[in-house]
Amino acid sequence: MKSGIKVTVWNEFRHEKKNEAVKRVYPDGMHKVIAAGIEKLGGVAARTATLDEPEHGLTDAVLKETDVLIWWGHAAHSEVKDEIVKKVQKRVLEGMGLIVLHSGHFSKIFKALMGTNCSLKWREVAEKERLWNVAPAHPITQGIGDYIELPNTEMYGERFDIPEPDELIFISWFEGGEVFRSGCCWNRGHGRVFYFRPGHETYPIYHNQQIIKVIYNACKWAAPRIFIEDKCPNINTPLEKIAPKSADFGKAGIVQG
Ligand code: ZN
Repeated sequence: MKSGIKVTVWNEFRHEKKNEAVKRVYPDGMHKVIAAGIEKLGGVAARTATLDEPEHGLTDAVLKETDVLIWWGHAAHSEVKDEIVKKVQKRVLEGMGLIVLHSGHFSKIFKALMGTNCSLKWREVAEKERLWNVAPAHPITQGIGDYIELPNTEMYGERFDIPEPDELIFISWFEGGEVFRSGCCWNRGHGRVFYFRPGHETYPIYHNQQIIKVIYNACKWAAPRIFIEDKCPNINTPLEKIAPKSADFGKAGIVQG
């Protein structure tokens, strides 16, 4: 039994099977590279789950054993079953961490947690990206330095239709001139959500050790501090004695005099 923060790396895992260029970069899938990369840094026990497994690999037992879920999806967001999305959302609100990568900005789970369209501008011409670290004191940027440079990436540009992040960690600049909020943190219920932009499937982004370090740091940041199951109880027995009110009190237009 591996010890440490229990991380489940979820991947749609379709491009790697169908597209030769992607297969060359990630022969066993992006999820395997991410899982091995973060585990190597210590204190993390990573498992993987993919879309085509029963229940997308996210059974109740797996979710119960997951502290932080990492999500990569792109071409098959619509194939993710709504009932699984609901379960993941519930788990996040109860305390599980969620890290959404790259094209996961359009996943059902990210949209459900953000409540906005999550749309953006994009262009794929293998341009350079520089991710500026704008929160050097934040746990997610430890060991990263001033910036991360990626020689070839897909561009994502503003405006990114997200709710105002609780914390903004990285801002990207692209060779073509656009900028993008590439590292964003939110609190949702008792859980923490981190969106991290890099990761287009045809570039070796998850072989970059700075990118893996950010994801690893984010796992530690998003690890649950508490799990609380949601309830909405009717408290019929108050702690203090409440003075009796007239039966009509609280009805429209009636004020106790
Ligand atoms: Zn992409």
